[in-house]
Parts: sequence; structure tokens; C-alpha cells
Amino acid sequence: MKKPALIMTNLLMFVITSLIALVLVPLEAISHGFDTVEIVTTIVLIYFTGMSITAGYHRLWSHKAYDANPVVKVILALGGAMAIQNSILHWASDHRVHHKHVDENDKDPYSAKKGLWYAHIGWMLREYQATRYADYSNCRDLQKDKVVMWQHNHYLAIMLIMNFGVPIALGALNGDMWGMFLLAGVFRLVVVHHVTFFINSLAHFWGRQPYTDKNTARDNGILAFFTFGEGYHNFHHIFEYDYRNGVKWWQFDPTKWLIRGLAYVGLTRNLRRCPEERIAKAQAEMQLKKVQAKVAMLPDAEGLMQSIQHEYDLLMHKLTEFYATKKRLLEIKKKRLKRSYERLELDFKYRELKYNLALQRQKWLAVHQLAYAH
Ligand SMILES: [Zn+2]
Ligand SMILES: [Zn+2]
Repeated sequence: MKKPALIMTNLLMFVITSLIALVLVPLEAISHGFDTVEIVTTIVLIYFTGMSITAGYHRLWSHKAYDANPVVKVILALGGAMAIQNSILHWASDHRVHHKHVDENDKDPYSAKKGLWYAHIGWMLREYQATRYADYSNCRDLQKDKVVMWQHNHYLAIMLIMNFGVPIALGALNGDMWGMFLLAGVFRLVVVHHVTFFINSLAHFWGRQPYTDKNTARDNGILAFFTFGEGYHNFHHIFEYDYRNGVKWWQFDPTKWLIRGLAYVGLTRNLRRCPEERIAKAQAEMQLKKVQAKVAMLPDAEGLMQSIQHEYDLLMHKLTEFYATKKRLLEIKKKRLKRSYERLELDFKYRELKYNLALQRQKWLAVHQLAYAH
């Protein structure tokens, strides 16, 4: 089958910016050197533009995982344009299709099933989805967002000002326009391009699947480090409306920290979280699947299989009970019934269930150890 036509604008942009980053930037470093201001500006702009994509394009606009103050939106729209990944409207439209039809080669715009190169950058080099963007019908909500439409309608101008105007102006302030343009302009752009593209490529190939195996998305702490927290992509594909990708407090997710930090000062609100109960159950379900597959390979493991199922059923039951009680306790606390009898009773029940759940988790772990010891 004949391949669709090349998109020359994209191809030239990727080739020229990569050549500058790989050839001119090292040459400049050797011949002239970069000063601290240039290096720090570049790092700041890597985070600013990268997180405009992850916190803005991705979690705010594509998934509506939280609401943001208009000033925050404008800043994210500017930073997103500086990352040169098309307008918010276009990006979000692609991304919503990616989630809805993940891994379906004929629908998912960056389907990982078409290979690492395709998911990383290949999909942008040819007119693979030329027919799709007549009306952005999966983003009607975003078409009502003034910031989104302003950025979409003036995308080219904003993108050019942010990528040429800003670095050159900063360079003028620092006394070297060319050096700042090379490092904070072009080198920064190429870095942010590839680390954000990793989310579509590597994060669908490399890592663990603790929450679901219904798609190719993976959780990977190393990738999370380079992708502003989006390496926890397995979690993200099952609980896409959660403002967090790294759901555990210790998981490296600066995008989540930014969103929560802004909430403290009132600039973001309505941060959406998936109920803990669903997360815990998804995890247990995946553990069951994996251990069952392992035990199915063992000879005469009928008894072990039965005890695994038994412990799993108990675990699910205890999770349900625990979270139902936790919810009721929170409701009572909200009503500020400080010393009511019901609250005391619930408090006691909650602690008891928590303890029981921890014991059950230990038993669940023990049957796993039995299975994996063979
Ligand atoms: Zn994905
Ligand atoms: Zn997403």
C-alpha cells in the first residue's frame, strides 16, 4: 500500500531543529561556551514548556482533571505553543481519540501497535489522519473555552513569538542573542519534543502493568523522571480523569505537584481523584490474573489455585467493607459531629477493618509467595 504524503512542514521542523541541536549547539559550546544564565534559562524553559503540555494540554484540557484560573490557562497556552505540538484543540482531539481507541491501528493516531518509531514521531511525518479534523467534534467543550480558541486561532503567531521572540529577547538582556536562541530556543525545543514523545512511544512499551493489561500502556519510574511524571502511563490509561499519574505520594510526578501546589493558592480547583477503592481493586485484579497464569503452568496445583481464589475473594470483600466505612466516617467528620456515639462507633469499626485489611493483604501476599516459590 502506498504511504500517505509527507508533511513537509513537520519534517523540515524536526530535521532542522535536530541538526541545530546536534551540530550547532555543541559547536557553540566548544567555540564560545554557554554561561550560567543561558543554562538555567534553558532548564527553566524545559520545565515550563514541558509542563505546559503535561499539566495544560494533557491533564487540564484533554482530560478535564481539574479547573484552572484564566491566568494559569493563558500561561499554559503560551508554554504549550512554545513546545510546538500544535494547538490545544488539535492536540486534545488527537489525545481523546488515543484514549478511546488505544492500540487500534486504524483509529488511535499514535497507536503503539504500529511500532516504536511510529508512536514516537512517525505519525506526525505523513498525512495519516488528514481526513479527521473537519470539526474537532470530540472537543466541543474546549471550543467553548476562550483561551483554547484564542490560542487555536492565533497559533502560528503565538508559536513564532514564543520560540523566536522570547529567547532572542532574553538573549538581548543577557548580552548574547545567538547563544540564548540556540540553547534556550532550539535545544530546549528538541529536548522537550522527545521527552514528551516518549509518553506515546516508550510509555507504551517499557515498564510494568500494575493496573490493567487491556492496553499497551506501562508504568515506569525512570520514564516518569524524564516526562514530568507521565511515565506512570498504565495508571493513567485506566484512570484518565485523575489529576495524578503517579498516584502514590512518593512517585515522581512534578505535574501533579504543580497542580496541587496551585490549588493551595487558589489558582486551580476541583482536582479529580479516582476513588481509592477502585484503584486498590484494579491492582488486586491484576495481581490475581498474573498469579493465576503462573499457577496454571504448575502441575497438581489445584489446591493452590483454590486458596488463591479464596484469599482474593476475601481481600475484595474486605476492601469493600473498609472503604464503605471510611466514606461514612468522612461524611460524619464533615458534619463536625465531634463526640457523637455514631462517630465513636465508626472510628472503632474503621480501625478494626483497617487492621483486618492489612492482615488480609499479608495472607494475599503469602499465597503469592507460595505460587512464585515453585
Ligand atoms: Zn497513551
Ligand atoms: Zn491522557
